[in-house]
Amino acid sequence: TQRIVLASRPVGMPSAEHFRFEATTLEPPAAGQVLLQTRYVSVDPYMRGRMSAAKSYVAPFEVGQPISGGIVAEVVESRNDALPVGSVVVGNLPWQQHSVADGKGLTRIPTDQAPISYFLGLLGMPGLTAYFGLLDICQPQAGETVVVSGAAGAVGMVVGQLAKILGARVVGTAGSDEKVAYLKQLGFDEAINYKTVNLAEALAAAAPNGIDCYFDNVGGAITDAVYNQLNKHARIALCGQISTYNATEAPVGPRPEGKLLKTSSRLQGFIVSDYLSRWPEGVTRLTEWYGQGKLQFEETITEGFGQIPAAFLGLFQGDNTGKAIVKVS
Ligand code: NDP
Repeated sequence: TQRIVLASRPVGMPSAEHFRFEATTLEPPAAGQVLLQTRYVSVDPYMRGRMSAAKSYVAPFEVGQPISGGIVAEVVESRNDALPVGSVVVGNLPWQQHSVADGKGLTRIPTDQAPISYFLGLLGMPGLTAYFGLLDICQPQAGETVVVSGAAGAVGMVVGQLAKILGARVVGTAGSDEKVAYLKQLGFDEAINYKTVNLAEALAAAAPNGIDCYFDNVGGAITDAVYNQLNKHARIALCGQISTYNATEAPVGPRPEGKLLKTSSRLQGFIVSDYLSRWPEGVTRLTEWYGQGKLQFEETITEGFGQIPAAFLGLFQGDNTGKAIVKVS
């Protein structure tokens, strides 16, 4: 079977050379184990952090070892009664076409509620990130204004729709006119192409009553502009900072954080795994809203195991609308 290992650690923007394809042989499953065929591979921005040696909230990938991440796989051989042949599971698995695993850390998923790849998106890590970050940290009230950056991505598109369900006015930022049109179609009140406008002016026009909640996926200049337009007692969920993941130096200069002080705003970072104990609650509610047609989801699906590195790199160019997924088999 084929696998993808970390060839070397990138400095700055990663590229294809940092990944290596290798052939590997698998032992047949032992008692308690299953042979899995990889169906869908999730590529996620946080993996950039794991390519570096720096300590973070997840351990770095090892050079020469397979990269791993969220995968939906099908059991094709089983020596585990809980996971018969044909079961579909989601878990953290190596970037391999096939793998052998014991049941630990794998979650069996239903195949009749939503496309199985949604367990890497709406009904998986990104959807739950949106759910807990927005409901727990931002706590938008009806009529308040919520801004979400990275709005056309996997997390952002769910954040905006949930904020609409809660009765808020929703403004999203995204990197192309197509994404802006898509967000409007999804029900966002306003959407801003951050690459083509004056951010301060565009935000002031889109959020004339100021900003009560900010769900931050990107950091950088967009966040600076939002901070300058916060209302008193604003709540900020610091979810991601993708605009800085490939930076080699911390930016310096006049910063708008003083606005947090002047508005008595609350800024809280979080990692979705903080909410592991409430995962079932989140999946249940997201599944309900999806089933009722109140939540839509979008995927950008790239086909083929060989395309995994390219799909990952595309995250940093904005290639994806909604969740970036690779269909392997
Ligand atoms: P997305 O689906 O949003 O994909 C990444 C998107 O980021 C791209 O499509 C691109 O969209 C945008 N982007 C890339 N580079 C830049 C840049 N320099 N400036 C602004 N936007 C940029 O990914 P996810 O939804 O999976 O993740 C969104 C964020 O949430 C990430 O920062 C991620 O690390 C974080 N996250 C945090 C979690 C947590 O537990 N705290 C869990 C999951 C995700 P565009 O065309 O708009 O530029």
